[in-house]
Amino acid sequence: MTQPTHDEAHGGALGTRLNWLRAAVLGANDGIVSTAGLVVGVAGATDDRSALLTAGLAGLLAGSLSMAAGEYVSVSTQRDSEKAALAVEKRELREQPEAEFEELVGLLADRGLSRAVAREAAEQLTRRDALRAHARVELGIDPDELANPWHAAWASFLAFTVGALLPLLAIVLPPAGLRLTVTVCCVLGALVLTGWGSARLGAAPPGRAVLRNTAGGALAMAVTYATGSLLDVAGA
Ligand SMILES: [Zn+2]
Repeated sequence: MTQPTHDEAHGGALGTRLNWLRAAVLGANDGIVSTAGLVVGVAGATDDRSALLTAGLAGLLAGSLSMAAGEYVSVSTQRDSEKAALAVEKRELREQPEAEFEELVGLLADRGLSRAVAREAAEQLTRRDALRAHARVELGIDPDELANPWHAAWASFLAFTVGALLPLLAIVLPPAGLRLTVTVCCVLGALVLTGWGSARLGAAPPGRAVLRNTAGGALAMAVTYATGSLLDVAGA
């Protein structure tokens, strides 16, 4: 079993980095919207700074931990199924190497190589590392670069926390009279940036993404603020 390596020049590394970056932007976006909704809702009901701080911090931790746990579970499951597929491939290579070789030739030919070139390529790939060749051509996975569940968990924890810190600080730092204005402006400004960033990283037109993203955040804050104010009026 080879050790995982992080070859920067490896094909697809840029795509992987962009995916990670996009996931980070979306995670931060989640942190911004959910924490903003939470603290603006509490601000609708009370002026008490310590209540706002408590609600914001609890929301930050609950959100970032649940994102991290969800990501850990999902990446672990993906890794388990990739390992299982690799184990099957390994057994097939041991038990029926000729059939597997012909399969590799066929797969390479399907990608547009002539039969002769596919055979030559399959021979070279098999001589170098048969399992790796089958994993990449047949399963589309790189056995040396299986996703790490702990990395994924940490990344979503951090991304959500960074996003959540913005509305949390914006609601507790300014004086009571400016609290909501500052928070709403900071949150909408940040959502313009995350909406634009995630659209650009996904190669989508940014205009509509920015509009949807800010509208979603504005709606979340309006709904929770209205709910908080109603509870305050009702004397809850
Ligand atoms: Zn195979």
